[in-house]
Amino acid sequence: MSHPHPELSAPAALPKGGLRVTPLGGLGEVGRNMTVFEYDGRLLIVDCGVLFPEDHQPGIDLILPDWGSIRDRLDDVEALVLTHGHEDHIGATPYLLRERGNIPLVGSELTLALLGSKLREHRLKETVHHVVKEGDRITFGPFELEFVAVNHSIPDALAVAIRTGAGMVLHTGDFKMDQLPLDGRITDLRAFARLGEEGVDLFLTDSTNAETPGFTPAEKSITPVIDQVFRESSQRIIVACFASHVHRVQQVLDAAYAHERQVAYVGRSMVRNMGIARDLGYLNVPPGVLVDTKDLADLPPDRQVLISTGSQGEPMSALSRIAQRNHNFVHIEEGDTVLLASSLIPGNENAVYRVINGLARWGARVVHKGNALVHVSGHASAGELLYCYNIVRPRNVLPVHGEIRHMLANAALARATGVENVVIAEDGVVVDLIDGVAAVAGKVDCGYVFVDGSSVGDITESDLKDRLILGEEGFISVIVVVDSVSGKVSAGPEIHARGNALDGSNFDDVKQPIIDALDRAIAEGNTDSYQLQQTVRRVIGRWVSNTHRRRPMIIPVVIEA
Ligand SMILES: [Zn+2]
Ligand SMILES: [Zn+2]
Repeated sequence: MSHPHPELSAPAALPKGGLRVTPLGGLGEVGRNMTVFEYDGRLLIVDCGVLFPEDHQPGIDLILPDWGSIRDRLDDVEALVLTHGHEDHIGATPYLLRERGNIPLVGSELTLALLGSKLREHRLKETVHHVVKEGDRITFGPFELEFVAVNHSIPDALAVAIRTGAGMVLHTGDFKMDQLPLDGRITDLRAFARLGEEGVDLFLTDSTNAETPGFTPAEKSITPVIDQVFRESSQRIIVACFASHVHRVQQVLDAAYAHERQVAYVGRSMVRNMGIARDLGYLNVPPGVLVDTKDLADLPPDRQVLISTGSQGEPMSALSRIAQRNHNFVHIEEGDTVLLASSLIPGNENAVYRVINGLARWGARVVHKGNALVHVSGHASAGELLYCYNIVRPRNVLPVHGEIRHMLANAALARATGVENVVIAEDGVVVDLIDGVAAVAGKVDCGYVFVDGSSVGDITESDLKDRLILGEEGFISVIVVVDSVSGKVSAGPEIHARGNALDGSNFDDVKQPIIDALDRAIAEGNTDSYQLQQTVRRVIGRWVSNTHRRRPMIIPVVIEA
């Protein structure tokens, strides 16, 4: 990622009594949230999540925040606060703990339980946990934390107030203001108001839906739609949703119970997370509803419900395999109903429609966001954000969690309510709060950190460019042997192509021009093999471009013998 603020330089030393805020991910994208707060030489981190790769990042498993700028200071970190259990907030934590395993982890019961299973998968054991709940106060070094209940698309989400000598920061985390949520746990606006009375110096607010006017509909508004889908289905029902959306799963379990169907979970993360949520009391499974997938298959189709992962079209997920009819035990049949009860995250459209088409081809009825109200967002819309600004009355606002368009829309809302100082920052842009005023102080290096198999941070943007060229154009290799005594081509060029229409060509028309160009270059005194390889590259590159209109990757090899 090229830095959006080339004019900024490294920040000056933080003045005594000032608070420094450095977003290392999540500002400029929806994903990999991570923000570092610095006061009096000590650091506090809020969230440490992942971003999922898009089509132009082939082969990448995950993208992490770039904590290179604090790598040498991890011993100064007092704690890592996790606002809720979504992957874009907790997913990178195992990678951070690999660098310092005893960073104290602070979060709600469900958040830390979901994180705990992830840490065990990464074989990280000796971690330090502090379970907190709304209303709790806990101090780490110079940071006095207070937690506030917020409503979101996962239970047990928290906002956090951070008090330091520089003033009070209120970070909403991800939130919305559903007034009648399934679990009755609403965003605590009374606490927001109390903190506002005390004086919020810097308010970090979720920008995701700032462009959406009005209010995010209540979670309960999709209950009748789910009920209708159940009523109309005469065969099996497959529901796909996020493996952390406990309330959505709750609605499906309740509908199954009401319609005398039984439910099985499909997909490892769904089984694991719903097990955790049930054990901790966040998911209420009606008696007799849940069965093992193997037992479900023994029931008649009109008694079956599957709740599956894969609502974003992830190629390896259960739903994708079902759509391709290569799932181990779920065979999609004509008359089945598939309910995609999820959002469509930007960048995933192609993958999701591929799955929908795959399911429809086998005769399934697919109900999704595009044709029914089967999903509501987990984030506050513009109307809710306006309420928050009016209730909190912050001195300074820093929009977080969104692409630049979302953050700018959020900034406009803050200004509309009379907030005088709104700071726009993207990943790596340093914001200092000094004497009650927040301002951009500089930038730190902050790129993408790619996870590819077991490698973390080794794959660069230029490697990805190579992958894209290979993926779209294939490659051509040219091997030539030059006699080091005579300076003449003694063997080759031997040319091979793969992944393009040139595969199998004899390349006769380009072999002589390559030999001629090499002879000329050597006669002019260019005998260095790197230079000769560039000569080969130019000749064949021009030839492919002129005759085939392609630009494959070219791998020239000149051997002196
Ligand atoms: Zn979230
Ligand atoms: Zn999020």
